Amino acid sequence: MTDNAPVSAPLTLLGTGAMGTALARAWLAAGHPVTVWNRTPARAEALAAEGATVARTAAEAVAANRLVVACLLDDASVGEALEEAVLSGRDLVNLTTGTPAQARARAAWAGARGARYLDGGIMAVPPMIGDPDSGGYVFYSGSAQAFEEHRDTLAVPAGTRYAGKDPGFAALHDVALLSAMYGMFAGITHAFALIRREDIAPEEFAPLLTDWLTAMAPAAHQTAAHLASGDYTQGVVSTLAMQVAGTATLLRTAEEQGVSPQLLTPFLELMRRRLAAGHGDEDTTGVVDLLATR
Ligand code: NDP
Repeated sequence: MTDNAPVSAPLTLLGTGAMGTALARAWLAAGHPVTVWNRTPARAEALAAEGATVARTAAEAVAANRLVVACLLDDASVGEALEEAVLSGRDLVNLTTGTPAQARARAAWAGARGARYLDGGIMAVPPMIGDPDSGGYVFYSGSAQAFEEHRDTLAVPAGTRYAGKDPGFAALHDVALLSAMYGMFAGITHAFALIRREDIAPEEFAPLLTDWLTAMAPAAHQTAAHLASGDYTQGVVSTLAMQVAGTATLLRTAEEQGVSPQLLTPFLELMRRRLAAGHGDEDTTGVVDLLATR
């Protein structure tokens, strides 16, 4: 390294589970000095061989660097691990999965201890970490200054998306996307159940499903436009009245195929309720308001 070569910022990583190890490897590969700590020391040893400094305690690891990344099991484990650590003057980036309320409480907790706080929601699985082509990224929220200061370092393992100053917003975005994913999984599961006992090859059916779901996904933009304008009838092609009429066929087909409608009925019930309230000229946007009761 020449005197003019850029210096990769050092950082501390608490937690070398599956995700923590992938993060550490990405930073080490990019030349960042990394101090790691793990509750079970044996799980951090492989990283020592790859150039990481292994701290004996979480407090020692926190003392080593200004930037402290935590990637532990849950919010309670973060509190436990950091109990003895001096956080004053540190920038705590918490990539541990939690709820928005847990993130806000943890931000206040860190602030009271003199640390700047960023919460993170990882939209990737470990094999995607450190691979710029994987599409993996992390939502961040909380201190904008801390995000700007550490942006380059944070961008090493995965893409970065700043979701706002509210420390709960990274978790909220994370959970909202995951919840949408489970809705999609539920639909895929029901579709496979419909063809399960028939002479239809699942491998030939799968691409039809993915193409259809991909074609339908942009409906999210229409919903967003409706919610933003307050006019839920704007640009509607398939009215709720038409869609609800069609659901009878969906339910009858499930019955004919001997498939339980339990994944389908909750959404169809909500569509019916909205129709019954006189909103037949909308599409499904009004269901958002039926769900968001607070
Ligand atoms: P692992 O189960 O592999 O690792 C969990 C880590 O938490 C270990 O380092 C474990 O230490 C530590 N830990 C658990 N309890 C405590 C405690 N009480 N005090 C201190 N340390 C504790 O999980 P991952 O690495 O996969 O996940 C870490 C975080 O990343 C989670 O919040 C997860 O939701 C999130 N995440 C994971 C993804 C994935 O696909 N793996 C995807 C997106 C987010 P020890 O080794 O001693 O048990």
